[in-house]
Amino acid sequence: QTPQTEILQTGPMMAMIERQLAAHFHVHRLDRDDAAALARAAPRIRAVATAAGGGLGVDRALIARLPALEIVANFGVGYDAVDVGAAAERGIVVTNTPGVLDDEVADLAVALLLATVRRLPQADRFLREGRWTSAAFPLTGSLRDRSIGIVGLGRIGRAIAGRLAAFGRPLAYHARNPVAGVPWRHYADLRQMARAVDILVVIVPGGAATRHLIDRPVLEALGPSGILINVARGSVVDEAALIRALGDGTIAAAGLDVFADEPDVPEALRRMDNVVLLPHVASATHFTRNAMGQLVVDNLLAWSQGRPPLTPVPETPWPAKA
Ligand code: NDP
Repeated sequence: QTPQTEILQTGPMMAMIERQLAAHFHVHRLDRDDAAALARAAPRIRAVATAAGGGLGVDRALIARLPALEIVANFGVGYDAVDVGAAAERGIVVTNTPGVLDDEVADLAVALLLATVRRLPQADRFLREGRWTSAAFPLTGSLRDRSIGIVGLGRIGRAIAGRLAAFGRPLAYHARNPVAGVPWRHYADLRQMARAVDILVVIVPGGAATRHLIDRPVLEALGPSGILINVARGSVVDEAALIRALGDGTIAAAGLDVFADEPDVPEALRRMDNVVLLPHVASATHFTRNAMGQLVVDNLLAWSQGRPPLTPVPETPWPAKA
């Protein structure tokens, strides 16, 4: 009998994931096991399962502690909390959960956009507070006189664009490369697009390359009727610049699902009336989280059975490049 494959789970994961991991692997827990036991097990650990968004990331130091590591299976399409460069250097494959969440995140992005433009949470609060009995809810901004620029036209960006096309408003997008076969105008220059549109919907990956992509000059270019929707990562927006821009009328409003230092959201944002704030819920439905969880498990099972992992990220192709 061969000993069970030993893996490391960095923090809590969905019950359906934990159940399946426990059935197939000997699971160590970074967040629970005592340090000495973990140090003893480290040389035998061949895989890591992580929900980086909800706990500890997989950094270079952790990877260095695991000399037998072959695969890191990340729950979520965004893997900015995994040091993919450190993994690639060692020929460790990193997998994520692309595709299965595109429609859910796109639905939420559109909902957040409408909620922000039409001030739906504010209207709900207005009714609950009994204010309707003495006045009508004030008129709001509209999608009817606004055009939209999508920042990032990948899997999710395209799903958002497809939905927004049905709203009959002009659409454009910014990405480093133009996307073939789409009818929308490509802007290589984000500031130029921000000047041309009234709404930015941000859906690029996080990480160093997109850090503070949405900065003060972009917000100034967006202008006083401008609306920012961020369903990407908090790191993509200069949050301090955004707070200033919302406070001094540089832009009109923002709808945010993600923040720089989750779950801490600056008091200044929470006090503002021209923002809609969500606790990072874009993919957070039973249906979609189950699909994401199954893909994490299936990646690990494929690898452990000697088959190619299903969804390796582009930086760590399978099999590893020599
Ligand atoms: P894709 O990799 O399919 O698409 C990424 C897009 O961003 C591409 O159009 C890419 O184009 C563009 N992009 C990448 N880097 C840059 C850059 N430096 N400047 C400008 N554009 C850039 O990713 P997905 O659509 O699957 O997911 C996007 C991100 O959404 C995830 O990485 C994740 O962080 C976030 N997300 C957030 C969720 C939430 O809960 N709020 C849920 C799911 C995802 P090009 O390479 O040509 O620049």
